[in-house]
Amino acid sequence: MVVHGIVKIGDLISDNGKFLKSEKLLQSQLSPIHFFKLMGIINSIPNDWKLIIKQSQQHVCPPSNDTIQIHIESAAVDVLKATSKMLYNEFKSKKQVVPSAQNKIKRKFPDLSLAWKEIYSLPFTVTQDTKTREFQYKLLNNIVFTNEKLFRFKMIDSPLCAFCQTEDESPEHLFFHCNKMKSFWQLLFSWFSEQKVILTSLTLENVFFGVFHGAEDCHVVNHIILLAKYYIYNCKLNVIHPSLKVFIAKLKAACQIEQKIAATNNKLERHYKKWKKFLPCFS
Ligand SMILES: [Zn+2]
Repeated sequence: MVVHGIVKIGDLISDNGKFLKSEKLLQSQLSPIHFFKLMGIINSIPNDWKLIIKQSQQHVCPPSNDTIQIHIESAAVDVLKATSKMLYNEFKSKKQVVPSAQNKIKRKFPDLSLAWKEIYSLPFTVTQDTKTREFQYKLLNNIVFTNEKLFRFKMIDSPLCAFCQTEDESPEHLFFHCNKMKSFWQLLFSWFSEQKVILTSLTLENVFFGVFHGAEDCHVVNHIILLAKYYIYNCKLNVIHPSLKVFIAKLKAACQIEQKIAATNNKLERHYKKWKKFLPCFS
């Protein structure tokens, strides 16, 4: 995006204050992937910040004589002359605002009793797979593009679920409430029982945030739930109904990759301990 000159929020706003409608952006011919990323960035900006950005014509410091200036204590300072102490003091003085995605999650899950630290650190605790971690990060930050959202952005003609075609495809519907998904999770739940992995239940909160209590095999269960969501999303993109059999084959592949990494890092014992109840299925 930098090669197209898109380096700051101001480059995404049109002269009349509309996001993603700037001349620079419209002429840049960005790929859909880059455009999706920008949509995610805009979507993650709290609404009150957006309002301030739109209302202020001063949100971007005009460059002068090829220098970049930043505002520190309300004064324009040449960025090359700003010391780290000045920047630190400026950041420290800013009021901390809860990310808007957290507020959205709180509204959707008012009874959620988990700490954010637990929620955000879980993917890093249970897997080293960066794709799965990234996907969970997107889900928590409300930047997974379901049909409901794409319809709102006027990118598709219908907000309906790719699987059932009867209800709007919100993240909650796509990953849990859809009838097709309910049967997938039930089959997975039964498969867990067959492997002697005992869960009391598998709720919407468990699917979204993880299983934190009451499961002896927390690490592997949470890793599998993360992989399952990523698998469901890829099924949606390819309009293929999720299948437990296919998913188990993918799990086997994920387990084998982890085994190779563990062997390299001399951590095979920990690897076998994590996957021990599932290894007979994969052999
Ligand atoms: Zn559905």
